[in-house]
Amino acid sequence: MSADTLRKLIENSKRIVGFTGAGVSTDSGIADYRSQGGIWEKFQPVYIDEFLAHEHKRLLYWQRKAVMWQTLRDATPGPAHHFFTSLHQAGKLGGLITQNIDGLHEKSGLPAEHIVNLHGTSLEIICLDCLDVQPAAPIMDSLDLTAGSPRCQKCTGLLKPNTISFGQALDEQCLQQAEILVTNCDLLIAAGSTLVVHPAASFPVLAKRNGAKLVIITLSETPLDGAADLVINEPMGPFLTEVVNSLDLPG
Ligand SMILES: [Zn+2]
Repeated sequence: MSADTLRKLIENSKRIVGFTGAGVSTDSGIADYRSQGGIWEKFQPVYIDEFLAHEHKRLLYWQRKAVMWQTLRDATPGPAHHFFTSLHQAGKLGGLITQNIDGLHEKSGLPAEHIVNLHGTSLEIICLDCLDVQPAAPIMDSLDLTAGSPRCQKCTGLLKPNTISFGQALDEQCLQQAEILVTNCDLLIAAGSTLVVHPAASFPVLAKRNGAKLVIITLSETPLDGAADLVINEPMGPFLTEVVNSLDLPG
């Protein structure tokens, strides 16, 4: 029944915006790093100030990124990623905002210009001095930390995966893009996010204030469930596959 309700909401919408969190990637074998037993419970996080100040902190950070890269490189998109890409192919998706850094929305065929990576992306490496951005794969696949943390070939500045670190502010431009998308959507589908921290918590409120419908898909309750037009608390893989299959989408 809920799948039918979501199908109708989608069919009645012209400009859908997706907002996704860690829950959309668990089907792809990527652990929810904020959850209990997640990676940050086992490891002390490296804050951006420590990264900038100490070589041993940079090496620690890169060692962890190297371990994560093994998982990210081999991960394949799950049903939730394909769901949003299907909406895009049908001309229904205004854009997608994600808290995830795993690049799986890109891998599922959703063009990068339609994705706002709020927390950055592991698919890129940035030089913190000249801000040159490069694809991550060539650097990560040949990463050698024995001579120290990686440096920019152009300016010898510090390289870092292009993700938001602990203690680092979100990118203002990304936040603005996200707010514009949410303000102009007629349906916001929030999937796999607990919607607790800012700015995640503010997007559903903003969407509702502007007259959009709100759908929340997540295993656990969220503080915004009361404001939603539809709340789905079941495993999203089978659910979203059912919805996609029921849609009469062109393309
Ligand atoms: Zn540089």
